[in-house]
Amino acid sequence: MFDEHIMNPIATKVAVVGAGISGAVCASNLAKNGIAVSLFESARGPGGRMSRRREIAEDGRELYFDHGAPYFSATNTDVEEMIRVWESRGLVAEWKQNFGSFDFITKKFVNFDKEGLNKKYVGIPGMNTICRALCHEPGIESKFGVMVGTIEWLENKDLWSLKDKDGHDLGQFNGVVTSDKSTFSQRFTQVTGKPPPLDLNMIPGFADIIKDVAVRPCFALMVAFENPCLQYHLKASHLRIQKYLAGHSVRAVSQDVQPPEQYAENIITKSGLQKPSNAALTEIAEELFQEFQRTGLDISQPFFKKAHRWGSAFPVTSTAKNEKCIWDGKKLLAICGDFCVSPNVEGAILSGFTAASTFSEAKLVSRQKMRKVNMCNGMQYDKVVIPLLSV
Ligand SMILES: Cc1cc2nc3c(=O)[nH]c(=O)nc-3n(C[C@H](O)[C@H](O)[C@H](O)COP(=O)(O)OP(=O)(O)OC[C@H]3O[C@@H](n4cnc5c(N)ncnc54)[C@H](O)[C@@H]3O)c2cc1C
Repeated sequence: MFDEHIMNPIATKVAVVGAGISGAVCASNLAKNGIAVSLFESARGPGGRMSRRREIAEDGRELYFDHGAPYFSATNTDVEEMIRVWESRGLVAEWKQNFGSFDFITKKFVNFDKEGLNKKYVGIPGMNTICRALCHEPGIESKFGVMVGTIEWLENKDLWSLKDKDGHDLGQFNGVVTSDKSTFSQRFTQVTGKPPPLDLNMIPGFADIIKDVAVRPCFALMVAFENPCLQYHLKASHLRIQKYLAGHSVRAVSQDVQPPEQYAENIITKSGLQKPSNAALTEIAEELFQEFQRTGLDISQPFFKKAHRWGSAFPVTSTAKNEKCIWDGKKLLAICGDFCVSPNVEGAILSGFTAASTFSEAKLVSRQKMRKVNMCNGMQYDKVVIPLLSV
């Protein structure tokens, strides 16, 4: 008659796996709704594919590269609302430069965006700033450098148990949000040799939809110049080789170059999914830089040049375009990330936001039902105590 969570109201303690933008937005919104969040991230810091990378040049100079997403846009009103809040906190700013395409035939910049349309945003000072701020909000306990190795449903307790990759206990939770497809895909096994943390057989209704999320890899080239490429007012660039080159300013030393996915796929086919060697990355950096030079722009020799491989840069399909996240209300499990909506920051934000709202709505429903139960039992409506589980 009653939902099983009446006796076990949602409240309470939720584990979020992954501190990319979807996980960070989800954790922040869960915490705002009074849910205690433990956030686990395998990398040293937050950001995921919105990370900022620190490098040291040969002469000891410190360099920072937004080597994942260099900027993002938004059209959804919920996301725009969040961006306005982040702007007011000084975490993001609009990137107000002329964005255009570079035509390889005429060697000219063309198709400049119309002013005011298609606003683009950057994190201040780096793309990881937003995730960093969200992960440290009240109600969130963030743990970095912790790779979750097991996400196990304890049937007899109606709880989730998490362990790290070496089998150390990370705690028990009423609910789990996982924000990276590698936590349930075979790719995890290909890279680590271990089974993925989450066994999809536990959520059979969704297994077919999410078991094989195809992804495209890419390489990013990080180059730093002594002087900005003044001839074209080109201080930072985002180049899909042979496709377009957009010139902007702001990130003085950050040069981001992305080749077509095919280039990266060819290399991965030859070398496998394991981390590429330094020698291989140096060679790739040289090849990408030569492509950059093929633009014919007056490009001086950089004093720093390095390639980074993103093995799962862009999901190819959207697994929950309408629902925006995958939700098992019985086990209180949400799966979110850009692969649910669209392969960009906006898609990831929407997915994380929806996962948090779904948890919170479930909590509300569970409270209302609890009231009804207590009313039936003849207790006073205004004195109902909702036992919040703490584990
Ligand atoms: C080179 C590049 C350029 C891009 N350019 C743009 C752009 O211009 N505009 C745009 O909007 N988007 C761009 N994107 C896409 C955008 O970066 C992503 O869509 C978005 O950042 C994805 O966020 P996410 O939270 O879904 O996933 P992620 O950022 O990948 O976050 C998942 C997190 O989970 C962590 N994790 C995984 N497994 C575990 C585990 N077992 N335990 C603990 N932690 C774990 C990972 O370390 C990661 O931090 C670009 C991406 C790349 C790579």
